[in-house]
Amino acid sequence: MKYISTRGHPAKQSFSQVLLSGLAEDGGLMLPEKLPKITDAELTAWRGLPYHALAHAVLSKFVATEDIDSATLAALTKATYTKEVFCTDEITPLRSIDGYAQGMQIQALSNGPTLAFKDMAMQLLGRLFEFELGRQNKTLNILGATSGDTGSAAEYAMRGRKGVNVFMLSPAGRMSAFQRAQMFSLQDANIHNIAVEGVFDDCQDIVKAVSNDLAFKRAHNIGTVNSINWGRISAQVVYYARGYLAATTSNSQKVSFAVPSGNFGNILAGHIAREMGVPIDTLVLATNENNVLAEFFNRGVYRPRPSKETFETSSPSMDISKASNFERFVFHLFNGDAARIATMWREVDQGRSFDVSQTPEFKGMRERFGIVAGTSTHADRLATIREVYEKTGSLIDTHTADAMKVARTLVKHGTPMIVLETALPVKFAETVQQAVGFEPPVTAAQQTMMTLPLRVVQIAPSVERVKAIVAAG
Ligand SMILES: *Cc1c(COP(=O)(O)O)cnc(C)c1O
Repeated sequence: MKYISTRGHPAKQSFSQVLLSGLAEDGGLMLPEKLPKITDAELTAWRGLPYHALAHAVLSKFVATEDIDSATLAALTKATYTKEVFCTDEITPLRSIDGYAQGMQIQALSNGPTLAFKDMAMQLLGRLFEFELGRQNKTLNILGATSGDTGSAAEYAMRGRKGVNVFMLSPAGRMSAFQRAQMFSLQDANIHNIAVEGVFDDCQDIVKAVSNDLAFKRAHNIGTVNSINWGRISAQVVYYARGYLAATTSNSQKVSFAVPSGNFGNILAGHIAREMGVPIDTLVLATNENNVLAEFFNRGVYRPRPSKETFETSSPSMDISKASNFERFVFHLFNGDAARIATMWREVDQGRSFDVSQTPEFKGMRERFGIVAGTSTHADRLATIREVYEKTGSLIDTHTADAMKVARTLVKHGTPMIVLETALPVKFAETVQQAVGFEPPVTAAQQTMMTLPLRVVQIAPSVERVKAIVAAG
């Protein structure tokens, strides 16, 4: 199993190399040279497996045994996917919401430590990083910017891990009290919270400036764990297989998935699962008011927007107008034509758009890849949260509501529609309160978390200051 760049650079890499590196040398993203396949017999054998063993089986498709041996991978997945971390033996249990839409189910991906789906992959990534860095006898300084979920998931995955330090920038005063408490209450010596007096883009700009200083980057071994990380994508393929197996009894059945999307990371894993042979009918891509992806899937025009045209919405983890993983899908759409991708992304990287609406690839896309896209608004979110609660007694968060709203009209008789629950409602209590008139219940542990001492340094936006903090370790 070797990985290649979407833009054609000839260097091939192993899983463990791709794991620790960000972009390919030519600015492209790494993908398996050839997607592995899942046979009917494998799918049948996987029906009885606990989640961690399924994770081992799926990941073994992406990792050569001479790269990371099978026993190591089995130990890492077994240590990761436990009831202690994810609250249930099923890890990602399904529940029916027939009362809202006949045939619709929710797959819970948000019972990990930060109550969002990013824990599903990030928890494994923490262990993979510790293993790989230990083997290379290296230390990695992870530098990132977050407006909430990603940074938190990264910190909970990396806390206390040997060989890894995390420096996480966030906009001072702009995260919810819950998100602040979740991140800043961590007392681990290898976790560094840096609140920047500015907005998210200021944080992002500082991270870019530090990463563009190649001498500094090399001297301090700076890395990232953002959504283009292939380790994360491959770990996400597991829950699509799991959702399929849990909702069916025979491999002749199909299911559909509905996915609230921002950076195209979650749904990319669904696309990969479908291409590998998990019997998926439709992948429903839901966006909020920032509907760049819906526009592409409906009209064939990809028009990323600058940050000043990005709306702040009540599903903030999808407030993204340039989907960092999308290039991987387009590489498959154009059958691995790297020269074409390189040309298209030369435009995108200059802030321009592209239009493929007249190509045969776009015209055959829906049939071939099964992706259907739609948009949900703040009013839709409120109405959906309210209606789901009234009809089923289930409280859902704002992102999950976006997916449900878009999926509702697309449910086909006899094909389960699995909506991926990407966060718990308590993380977005204010909007949930607006919808149903009360705040989601807070557990005793969450209440305690809100009162813990905070560990964070606040700084003016300054590249030099951040470099100094990283250098001091
Ligand atoms: C990150 C996130 C998303 C978007 O996922 P992508 O992989 O960026 O498409 C949706 N919902 C929640 C709650 C998230 O944290």
